Amino acid sequence: MNTPLTTTQTTATPVTTATPASVYQQLRGHLTELKLADAADALPRVLDQAQAEGWSLTHALERLLSIEVTATDARRLSGRFRFANLPTGATLDDFDLDAASGIDRNLLAELGTCRYLETATNVLLIGPPGVGKTHIATGLGHAAVQAGYRTYFTSAADLAARCHRAAIEGKWGTMMRFFAGPTLLVIDELGYLPLPAEAASALFQVINQRYLKTSIVITTNRPVGAWGEILGDTTEAAAMLDRLLHRSVVVTLDGGSYRLRNHAAQSNELRRVTTGTNFR
Ligand code: ADP
Ligand code: MG
Repeated sequence: MNTPLTTTQTTATPVTTATPASVYQQLRGHLTELKLADAADALPRVLDQAQAEGWSLTHALERLLSIEVTATDARRLSGRFRFANLPTGATLDDFDLDAASGIDRNLLAELGTCRYLETATNVLLIGPPGVGKTHIATGLGHAAVQAGYRTYFTSAADLAARCHRAAIEGKWGTMMRFFAGPTLLVIDELGYLPLPAEAASALFQVINQRYLKTSIVITTNRPVGAWGEILGDTTEAAAMLDRLLHRSVVVTLDGGSYRLRNHAAQSNELRRVTTGTNFR
């Protein structure tokens, strides 16, 4: 057939006349052009191995592309971790259930599967300071990032401050879209500080626009009944709670403070050591 040559066809060297070296260079060039940098780097190694081990063409191509896919997955994972803004590396696996009370092993394991994200279920972690609320919230964030979900961790105070600033700068819409984006939004420490009315409205709007679409994990040291006090307006608090609780898992952690427990263990150890050496 006499179809006119296109620009790309004229620049491509016909495979039949090209030397192996120039075909190799072209292949490398294609990989680079397509931004498959890891495959480009791995090309000589994969070709050598293919020849040495007598791989089929299919096998060699599969190896080469799987190198690129693995590297892309790793890049996306670290991108999601960077974006997620998790405060520590705490995971659900290093949460010691024997030292906690109020959360059972099966529930924690179920939450760890991230299935609640598929039904836009919220998780409320309620309890006094030091019982592991932030640890679990961070662990849930960690699990979600690992499972491929876009996740963002913030504190209630930070969310409120950013919304306030956005409103002043005329960027309210952008900020609302930002907080609507992640599949999981973690809001830590609601209730540690009473929120001014405008902050409560910002929080309400964030919760409202995610309602039944995407999940929120929220930690608070105040029982649900006291939310009116935190939010300063009981109607808004009631509406917010309605949406948060409608499809939710509520975990009330009521064990003693793990921080204090650790502190007590350290002082006991110190006491034991110092007693032994008569420094008391
Ligand atoms: P909260 O948010 O409830 O005030 P944190 O999650 O900040 O408490 O916990 C305080 C510290 O104790 C953190 O370093 C956390 O990792 C640790 N911690 C609390 N509970 C546990 C637990 N059950 N297992 C392991 N570490 C825990
Ligand atoms: Mg906390």
